[in-house]
Amino acid sequence: MIVLNPLRQNRKKLRRNVKSDFAAKLAPRKNSFFSGAVLLLFLFHFINCYSSKGLGYQGNPLFGWLGGGATEKKIDTMQIFQRYPDFIADSYEFPAGGKYGEGYYIAQKFGVENPKFGYRFHLGEDWNYVGGGDSDYGAPVYSISNGIVSVIADYGGGWGKVVRVIHKHPVPETKNQFYYFEALYAHLYTIEVEPGQMVKKGEWIASIGDAGGAYPSHLHFELRTVSGAPLGGGYSFSTDGFFSPTKFLIAQVSKEKAIHEDQFGPAAVEKPATAP
Ligand SMILES: [Zn+2]
Repeated sequence: MIVLNPLRQNRKKLRRNVKSDFAAKLAPRKNSFFSGAVLLLFLFHFINCYSSKGLGYQGNPLFGWLGGGATEKKIDTMQIFQRYPDFIADSYEFPAGGKYGEGYYIAQKFGVENPKFGYRFHLGEDWNYVGGGDSDYGAPVYSISNGIVSVIADYGGGWGKVVRVIHKHPVPETKNQFYYFEALYAHLYTIEVEPGQMVKKGEWIASIGDAGGAYPSHLHFELRTVSGAPLGGGYSFSTDGFFSPTKFLIAQVSKEKAIHEDQFGPAAVEKPATAP
């Protein structure tokens, strides 16, 4: 027995109507190929919007979202830390330029209110080469210490390519006590590591980029107290869960070299490049 699905019939009818509607609209035009292309572009744009802000949307209005082409690879690093108990973050370097950040300045500091992002606080630091503009495009990004790569991803939007590394840091004045924190490097041009990879201090893990042309090239660099927390938006009304990378690094290298935070200020550069 054949049962006709009324919904299906309606849909067929609807599709016919839509088809003839389009045909009627396109018919009088001579350059119907052009109109068709415009229509296709419109449809593509609509589908694209729907997938990026609908299905794939991560509730993040700031640095962007997981678009249709987003990729993410991650791993639980704890098993690896347990297998190699001596693999700890016992000394540090800066993520760009020389070992102590020579040749680089911070275009936007940690914790500053940014009017472009609704006066939210910047949760990382924006590192730029003193040459300004895109002069640091493709320059190396170094792991600040020994650590294990937890995530590599290309989120597109305002995040672009991202590397996250977990560090096992000795609690000062204790024996065998550690806390784990996370370093996040964003807007990258290339990623040179895989999740689960044990990277050493100063190892070339990525190169500086512009998040697919979203900004002038720079490194957005975050330090997070909680490992594996949601990606977030790069800006927030609270800096809870984040800390100042440069303050932390200056304290860590203080026995080797005295560095003042001011030396990374844009004032140290003749023509500072603006970075969002
Ligand atoms: Zn930033």
